[in-house]
Amino acid sequence: MSIQWFPGHMNSARRKAAESMEKVDMVIEVVDARLPQASCNPMIEQLRNARQRPCLKILNKTDMADPVATQAWIDYYNSQKGVTAVALSCKKPSDVARVPKLAIQVAPHRGTALKPLRMMIMGIPNVGKSTLMNALLKKRVAAVGDEPAVTKTQQRLYLGNNMVLTDTPGMLWPKIEHPSDGLMLAASHAVGSNALIEEEVATFLADLLLQRYPQLLKARYGFNTEGMDGVAVVEGVAAKRGFRLKGGEYDFEKAAHTFLQDYRSGALGRISLETPQSRAELLATYQST
Ligand code: GDP
Repeated sequence: MSIQWFPGHMNSARRKAAESMEKVDMVIEVVDARLPQASCNPMIEQLRNARQRPCLKILNKTDMADPVATQAWIDYYNSQKGVTAVALSCKKPSDVARVPKLAIQVAPHRGTALKPLRMMIMGIPNVGKSTLMNALLKKRVAAVGDEPAVTKTQQRLYLGNNMVLTDTPGMLWPKIEHPSDGLMLAASHAVGSNALIEEEVATFLADLLLQRYPQLLKARYGFNTEGMDGVAVVEGVAAKRGFRLKGGEYDFEKAAHTFLQDYRSGALGRISLETPQSRAELLATYQST
């Protein structure tokens, strides 16, 4: 299975993003700290580089991510030209309060009455753009939702301290370069999902957790994970929760949903789906095939 978006969306998003990029001094790119590369659209970097716009890269939802992996990503991004990376929880007011100062540091030539700092928040759906914007403005100006594509209307927002924020076209669809990117996004609910793909996504997530966080599976469900595969984990959730169909067999669909909910709600613990190292390994696999 591979999860993809229509190229038509991509082209019009690219055009709008390129137009907006001309009118701003810097970009605040929001990604999901649990899957920073899978939740970023490389188009943002291409457009920024073409216009030489610096970037404050916010690894958001850091409260749900593995702190060790997050630190590795921060180091990784901070070594890139024109990028300042920071891990935040945009739900935390004290974290958001740091953003204006960081933005000025990224573009120190702006932020005066004569040359206000013009900023644009960008990112794929569901990474927390609206949450950040609302928190920056300290009031609700954009719809916050758990489904993609809630940020639609064009707005110019004055933040004070000679800072201006544009919120359109902040939204770009994810560019899913590898099937595992789609699965990671679906697991984190950054793309719409349905019951059919939930079973595959849950099995993928279970396999990943078996490799990287077996202790969290043990802590949550009491599994001895030795010899288990992803399917066995989801079946184990069905067994633990008593999810059975009329004939007595496991209700895999219900278990898959519950397992994904446990991950998305944070009940399983702080989990990062990728690290700079796992990303490099993934790319090496694709290059060698
Ligand atoms: P947008 O589509 O990029 O504008 O994303 P939203 O701002 O609508 O946020 C998507 C979901 O992520 C919402 O359910 C938010 O409550 C949640 N969210 C945003 N920021 C954080 C955060 O720092 N931590 C956690 N745990 N959830 C967050």
